[in-house]
Amino acid sequence: MQDSSEVAKRKLDCYVYYLLGESAGVENHSQAIAKLISWGFNVSPTYKACKNLDEVLDYINHWEKRRLKLPLETDGVVIKVNRIAHQEQLGFTAKSPRWAISYKYKSESQSTQLKSITFQVGRTGAVTPVAELEPVLLAGTTVKRASLHNANEIARLDLRVGDYVFVEKGGEIIPKVTGVDLSKRSAKSKAIQYIASCPECKTELIRQEGEAVHYCPNRKGCPPQIKGRVEHFIQRKAMDIDSLGEKTISQLYEKGFVKSPADLYDLGEEQLSQLDGFKDLSIENVLKGITQSKSTQYSAVLFGIGIRFVGKTVAEKLSLHFPSIDKLMKASYDDLINTPEVGEKIARSIIEFFSDKENRDEIKRLKNAGVQMESDYKEPDKVSNVLGNKSFVISGVFKSYERDQLKEIILAHGGRVLSGVSGKLDYLLAGENMGPSKLQKAEKLGVKIISEEEFVSMLKE
Ligand SMILES: [Zn+2]
Repeated sequence: MQDSSEVAKRKLDCYVYYLLGESAGVENHSQAIAKLISWGFNVSPTYKACKNLDEVLDYINHWEKRRLKLPLETDGVVIKVNRIAHQEQLGFTAKSPRWAISYKYKSESQSTQLKSITFQVGRTGAVTPVAELEPVLLAGTTVKRASLHNANEIARLDLRVGDYVFVEKGGEIIPKVTGVDLSKRSAKSKAIQYIASCPECKTELIRQEGEAVHYCPNRKGCPPQIKGRVEHFIQRKAMDIDSLGEKTISQLYEKGFVKSPADLYDLGEEQLSQLDGFKDLSIENVLKGITQSKSTQYSAVLFGIGIRFVGKTVAEKLSLHFPSIDKLMKASYDDLINTPEVGEKIARSIIEFFSDKENRDEIKRLKNAGVQMESDYKEPDKVSNVLGNKSFVISGVFKSYERDQLKEIILAHGGRVLSGVSGKLDYLLAGENMGPSKLQKAEKLGVKIISEEEFVSMLKE
């Protein structure tokens, strides 16, 4: 939530699920839980130590219905190996512990009537059909709308206005329509005609080959796309200008003051004082927030400028590989797809974005306004030259290092890091769970494959 006083009112609390410590003096997880309770921590009172799998299954069945009466929402049970020594032996995959797994209950489903379908246009021009439903109580909240994703989904469900549909809240917050109750269908109902033009600006919609989603191509003139791009830019994960919100941006757009993120940096008291309900203090706050955003780090700016398919994680990877916007703008398609997390779709989207003059001008204006367009990441200082300009590809998961750390170590000792396996490569540094295709390619090309231990001993030489 944006409003901290509202958060304070809600008296947030937490349950502690794990005791983290080098020598906590416990042999198993249930002893750790008992210790946490004795220290006064809040622990979920529903936990139970089970002796075998039958007891685990009994526990799952026991809570299937009862969990709905708990004071918070749950979607499943986490089953953990009790003995800490066994947990250590099992270890972790790249993403999760091997000694804990979740069992998800089937989500609750309700039947309700579909009143109509509306269409929303997002900042990228993507059109999302939304089911407007007769309000229904589902897993503790009243549901009135559900996403229908795209035209294919409507066709797949064979959805018609007036139908009774089944609604579920899965893992996501937004409910979804999972099926139609054909027994209640009216004989007069007709198949849904998907819209052909944008509900906001009337431009004819397009649908790219192989894509399920319809787009409004009127990037420069479609109001929700223009406002959406500015909203995306100011959000917490991007420039984090929390003194601006959706309503203010809407007003700024309607008065003609803001049509792109760069326009924000030209705002002054004169424009802001023309907005409804703006007083000295709020004007000052907005201007302060905009000024402060100039020190937001480059990777967040890269996410904020809203290149299609470039999310937060991809923006971070890109900022490591291309430490300035100038380098990214000059990158070729091959340079781009050799970056971790970047595939063909993203690479094409980046090239398309920067080939548009209007986007390049926008970047120039942001740069002139003082927004960070370079990473403050510095190449590590040289420690030695033992790796003598040899090239490495790092792949898989390692026991003692993160991949980024290994990269820094290689650079610091005079080596080079490449992203793809080729005949020119000197070493493939292989961790656990690495992709079989990289391994096969390296073997075929006769590239030397080394383990983490072998790498460490190379450094010692
Ligand atoms: Zn439009």
